[in-house]
Formats: sequence, structure tokens, C-alpha cells
Amino acid sequence: MFYEQNICKICKSNKNETIYKLPFKDDKLKTFFKKFYGEKNLDEIYSLTKNHDFEILNCTKCQFKWQKFIPEKLILNKLYNDWISFDDSLKKKNNLNEEYFFTSLLNLLDTNSVNTLDYGAGVGSFCNFAKKKGFNSYAFEFSSKKVKFLESKKIKIINDSEIKDTKIKFDLIYINQVLEHLEKFDEFFENLNMLSKKFTVIYISVPNTKKLKDPVKKGPYQPLEHLNSFNNSNLKELFSMNNFQTISIYRIFKTVLKKKNFPSFLIKRIFNQIYTTSILFEKN
Ligand SMILES: [Zn+2]
Repeated sequence: MFYEQNICKICKSNKNETIYKLPFKDDKLKTFFKKFYGEKNLDEIYSLTKNHDFEILNCTKCQFKWQKFIPEKLILNKLYNDWISFDDSLKKKNNLNEEYFFTSLLNLLDTNSVNTLDYGAGVGSFCNFAKKKGFNSYAFEFSSKKVKFLESKKIKIINDSEIKDTKIKFDLIYINQVLEHLEKFDEFFENLNMLSKKFTVIYISVPNTKKLKDPVKKGPYQPLEHLNSFNNSNLKELFSMNNFQTISIYRIFKTVLKKKNFPSFLIKRIFNQIYTTSILFEKN
């Protein structure tokens, strides 16, 4: 049902410490699962998790934090296809700030750069927006329910088996709230390297590691779902190990000079690149 991850997924160090541990069958976790996945899934969640612990390890070298017991495919499939309510995902509507941000991101591209990919698209807020703006907009998504939904919105889908054969190299890949869910990073970076070319813009956003008080809630350490918890420096390290560097500030500055983006985009971006876990990278 679960396997153990005992070395750091980023720096591969085996020096780590347990910073939280609670059996999955504990009442506190039961209450959490009931609240977010509903009463109807509770028995199944209990029977699949009861022999393991919700345990968080901290790498003493790079401060990356992860769930020691990683759910196997059976649990992950149930989690993403059945337990998480699809209707709740749909309720998260685009807001104006998001549209302003999407526009600023797309403004980073040259006029002949038109291929965009929403990686882990969910219900597709970015790929829908890019499509409306005339981009050649694609989505990649793990949940079959969400793939069906995206197809009904006429979004082009790249699925897992097609990535290795695809001829398209994307100019911008948007990856919002995806990396914290992944069991391993190897396949993710293989995909990313195949789908990108020199100077491809990668937008990545994950929850920022906070001081651990109570991890049994929605947030950077969320049980079952958030298997990884990053800070600014280990996230950058992971990407630099895999051929991506933080975007040159000049590239952003140029879009401000050309009056495509507001100066506030540049200022916010510089702050985010240095302090947060919402970062723009470009392929080396
Ligand atoms: Zn580490």
C-alpha cells in the first residue's frame, strides 16, 4: 500500500530527522479525511492506510521535507479519481488577479512562440485562458475525470504515453500546484526536458514550507496529497540539477520596456524569485 522513501529526493543525502509522526488510524487524521474526502470514503481510506504512519522527514542538508510513507498507485488513483471531489475543483473560478498574471506570463513570449502547455492542468484555468488568447494550448493531466472535462472544453490533451513521441516543443509550460504531489521527480524532469527547448519558460508554483506546527490540515504538509515540501533554495537546486535556471531578469525587464508588462510585474517577480516557491525558470 505504501513504500518508504528514506533518502532526500533532491540532494540524495541520507541524513534526515523525523519532524512529525502520527498513525493514519489516529482520530485526528480520521477527522481530517472525513472533512475533505467525505464520510462515504472513510472506511476505504481507513482500510488502505491503517497499518502506516503519516510521518514527515526533514533533510538536514537541504531542508527538503517529505512524507516518508508514499502511497502506491492503488491509493493514488483512488485519491485523485474518487476521493477528491471533482465538483469542489470546479468551484475554484478564475479571478481577475489570475488573469492579469496569465497575461503577464504570456507576454514573456516572442510573437512567433505560441505553444503552451498546462502541466497538471486540473480543470484547466491556464490552458483555457491561453486558448482564448489564441495560443496553441495543450494540457497534460493525471486524473481521467479531469481529462474528460478538458476534452469537453475542446482543450488539446497530451497524455502520458504520447510525451515521448511528441514533436511539439513548448514555449511556455505552466505547472501550478503539481510538484508537491509527485512521488518521484525523475519522470517529471524526463517529461519536462522532452517537452521543452532552449529558453522555454517554466512557471512553477508549490506551497512554501512553513514552520511545522500542525501538519494535519490543508497546507504544505497535507496528509496523502502533499508528499513534498519545498523552500526557495531547494526548489531552485532541484531545477538546476535538471537543466533549468531561474529566468533572466533582463528577459522580464524587456517586456516592461516594450510596454507589454507593467513594472509591478517585474518587482513582484524579483521578490518571488528570491523568497518564494513560485518561480520562473528557463531551459539551459
Ligand atoms: Zn536534501
